Amino acid sequence: MAGDLVPGYVPIKAPRGNTRTAKGWIQEAAKRMLMNNLDSEVAEKPEELIVYGGRGKAARNWECYHKIIETLDRLENNQTLLIQSGKPVGVVETHRLAPRVLIANSNLVPKWANWEEFDRLDRAGLMMYGQMTAGSWIYIGTQGILQGTYETFKSAAKQHFNDTLAGTITVTAGLGGMGGAQPLAVKLAGGVSLCIEVDASRIERRLKTRYLDRATTSLPEAIALASDAKKSRTALSIGLQGNAAEILPKMVQMGFTPDLVTDQTSAHDPMWGYLPPTRADEDVNTLREQNPKLYKERVNIAIVNHVGAILTMQKRGAIAFDYGNNLRAQAKLAGVDDAFSYPGFVPAFIRDSFCEGRGPFRWVALSGDPADIAKTDEALLKLFPDDVRLQEWLRFASGQVAFQGLPARICWLGYRERDRAGLLFNKMVREGTLSAPIVIGRDHLDAGSVASPYRETEAMLDGSDAVSDWALLNFATGIASGAAWMSFHHGGGVGMGYSQHAGLVAVADGSDEAEERLRLCLTNDPGLGVIRHADAGYEKAQRIAGERGLDMPSMKP
Ligand code: NAD
Repeated sequence: MAGDLVPGYVPIKAPRGNTRTAKGWIQEAAKRMLMNNLDSEVAEKPEELIVYGGRGKAARNWECYHKIIETLDRLENNQTLLIQSGKPVGVVETHRLAPRVLIANSNLVPKWANWEEFDRLDRAGLMMYGQMTAGSWIYIGTQGILQGTYETFKSAAKQHFNDTLAGTITVTAGLGGMGGAQPLAVKLAGGVSLCIEVDASRIERRLKTRYLDRATTSLPEAIALASDAKKSRTALSIGLQGNAAEILPKMVQMGFTPDLVTDQTSAHDPMWGYLPPTRADEDVNTLREQNPKLYKERVNIAIVNHVGAILTMQKRGAIAFDYGNNLRAQAKLAGVDDAFSYPGFVPAFIRDSFCEGRGPFRWVALSGDPADIAKTDEALLKLFPDDVRLQEWLRFASGQVAFQGLPARICWLGYRERDRAGLLFNKMVREGTLSAPIVIGRDHLDAGSVASPYRETEAMLDGSDAVSDWALLNFATGIASGAAWMSFHHGGGVGMGYSQHAGLVAVADGSDEAEERLRLCLTNDPGLGVIRHADAGYEKAQRIAGERGLDMPSMKP
């Protein structure tokens, strides 16, 4: 495999089972989760330490990776390991209830917060891009985004298509780590998807893991398949090999208008993530290396054509939305003045959930035993009998979603729900119902820990989109509440200069200490999401804050 060519690369599999070599379960969990992020079943390019999202990495280089693993094995229960952009830079004495690892990824002083400066530092070996859950060691493969993508398409269906995508076609692009969830999510919502992807191996991967039904290299064939399925209201996903910057304009020329149009190429990183069309005799990496300026011009032209086609489709009646990859901002920089004529997915479909602190909550079985996840699924079905979407999702996921790496599950839970789930898992570990501890984390697609004006905080009611005090408060609150490890990142999702966000992970090992940590951090973390939205003036968040007992001094008469 390609990885054999990279010095220092050995395929990685996290240890399984309930025997640990580290001095505590948190250290063991951090080690296994870092390894799991780089498992070849999980990571998109493990040999380059790239987990997902363009060049989102788990460690700066292989030397750093091995040093982190060694350090986690010797780390005492009153020490904290400090990670600076993927490099283990220090171990400090703290106390038992402190996080065992603190991580800062890709943070730059605002005036220098751009890809040019990041790239300079990256080339000098001084930084890495942590994306969101890559550099915070809680990525679980494409399932991690599947329910969120499903929630998004379900909300779109509810708003625009009588609650189902049956009889509709969605056109999108990008079948990478996150984008690969789109075909299955649209299918789950009843619709037909036509997913454009340049890289044949990504299409192959999604076919193999049953995220995609069919694949073709022919646009007319793809359109015919999609149109037939639309007519018969059959849910179907079709992968089309090609470049979105060429295919979408061709669709426009042919007069083909989908019902929904979006995109999940890695446009947040125009130099490395978004690929311009190339001739058969051209290699994209050589082009970029030989003439970066010319290469960037080609990317800009591609993005202009791509977004131009989305805007035309929108004018012809398609529901267009940006899927959190900053394509609109790149298009605007490249000269498309009306690029922001279509909304981001958060204000369009997700904000209402954020007002309840609701968002993607995930957990991983350190045993490696899928039976442990099956037991947690059962437990949550009983714990939240009235949550219809959760019931539907967990029943579907337990039967249909293939695990990648350590068995894991995701579901959307909000304030005063996550703590109940975490405490229940801790009890199940304590009583031996589960055969090893459970790691609990969340995405950075989150209500209270992210400042990202073109994504999570786009179009906030009070105009506070770019205020990142909230992300810092979340980071500090997680630490004060005894998270197992916390991270603070810049640039995730949308790229350098566009976001700041914090990640939280907790561990349920059945102990009293874990109970205390879980109770605090799984209450306070989503609580901040409600506070952030209540403070911005969202009535729903204000109501939830009142009903669920959040203390907000500024809301008191
Ligand atoms: P990835 O890098 O793993 O995959 C991107 C894919 O796009 C690759 O397979 C690449 O071959 C393909 N691609 C690039 N340019 C293309 C083009 N012009 N035409 C067709 N295909 C092209 O990234 P990912 O993890 O799938 O994330 C994709 C984007 O979505 C990123 O910008 C990421 O930040 C964003 N994202 C969104 C969410 C969300 O909740 N919506 C969550 C995480 C990430």
